[in-house]
Amino acid sequence: MNEVRTITILGSTGSIGCNTLSLVEDNPQAWRVLALTAHSNVDLLAEQAKRVGAQLAVIADPAKFAALKDALAGSDVRAAAGPDALLEAAELPADWVMAAIVGAAGLKPTMKAIERGAIIGLANKECLVCAGDLVMKAVQTHGATLLPVDSEHNAIFQVFDFARPEGVSKIILTASGGPFRTHPLASLQDVTPQQAVKHPNWAMGAKISVDSASMMNKGLELIEAYHLFPLAEDRIEILIHPQSVIHSMVAFVDGSVLAQLGSPDMRTPIAYSLAWPARMKAPVKPLDLAEIARLDFEVPDLVRFPALRMARDALRAGGSSPTILNAANEIAVAAFLEKRIGFLDITSIVEECLSAMPSVDLGCLDDVYEIDSRARAQAASCVNALV
Ligand code: NAD
Ligand code: MG
Repeated sequence: MNEVRTITILGSTGSIGCNTLSLVEDNPQAWRVLALTAHSNVDLLAEQAKRVGAQLAVIADPAKFAALKDALAGSDVRAAAGPDALLEAAELPADWVMAAIVGAAGLKPTMKAIERGAIIGLANKECLVCAGDLVMKAVQTHGATLLPVDSEHNAIFQVFDFARPEGVSKIILTASGGPFRTHPLASLQDVTPQQAVKHPNWAMGAKISVDSASMMNKGLELIEAYHLFPLAEDRIEILIHPQSVIHSMVAFVDGSVLAQLGSPDMRTPIAYSLAWPARMKAPVKPLDLAEIARLDFEVPDLVRFPALRMARDALRAGGSSPTILNAANEIAVAAFLEKRIGFLDITSIVEECLSAMPSVDLGCLDDVYEIDSRARAQAASCVNALV
């Protein structure tokens, strides 16, 4: 890479956002930061924005505007706040946008970046879960480029044969199984948020860590893969692989299986996306298979981890079902993290919402937002019924 490219990071204070910024800062000759955004962490946002000389720093929570302005006083960084400012950040003409907001909250800004035909590194999988058809249609219409950052999808993206998709027989998404992979069902209701966010292989934000523990993350990733790759739902398999070394695989009709391997470090898929179609150096531990010595595989247990079954059913049902699944899960995970409900209540609530709200077609984004807020209200009343 020799020309300077401009970048905006939506969700720069999160786990993916910080890793992205560190790779960008390691290559100051290659990148110039236009905008950074965060939900409420003013101190970190202001520190990042001043450090890299961003044009714009946006705090999504409007109540934090004054604090952000104060923190940026004396610098050249412009402060802004609120949902419209988030869209403004996405609309700045950055060559490259990292979509790393967590949850459906990232959908509007990501769509804005898509609508101006940007190159987008997509970490925010919930966008594709809640509005996959509309997002992919917009990508086509506006000539945007979506680069999957999620490690599994990034792995598949690296080995998929997009020129000859008929040669692909299936894709195999690997899953670590999370911190409760071997826990008996009876003990799962009593696990704490602290146990749930302690992922064996990856350091991630709280929401995705709980999703990994319930395996809803792999369910969301199934739906994400369905939208990113030209394959029917029944040709996307899930395989437990506790070491998280094989990040996913593509099987071909001649019996070949191609995989992408690496140390479990998100800086690899982020670096791949940043440098695409070239490669750049990333400060990750080199993979040492002799040290790892063995790789294990298991079939997922759909009884202990019903989220996998629910996500596949929602994908098959289509329409608004994945939107409901995602919204209900966001509310239930937040309630679990606040210790208002037990761990197994998360998936029970999602299931209750899915059965209470029959699938309807989603013609436009307003339909998505309407279903999303109805599902959130439904899930909130399920939470209240439990506490
Ligand atoms: P995180 O919680 O660490 O960070 C989330 C970021 O989004 C923060 O910058 C936060 O300020 C911002 N944010 C949160 N709510 C917001 C709102 N309502 N409006 C605007 N901004 C908001 O999360 P993370 O682990 O970095 O994950 C980000 C996304 O990437 C998620 O969709 C996750 O599923 C996906 N992802 C993460 C990893 C990982 O290793 N962390 C791996 C694969 C995919
Ligand atoms: Mg993943």
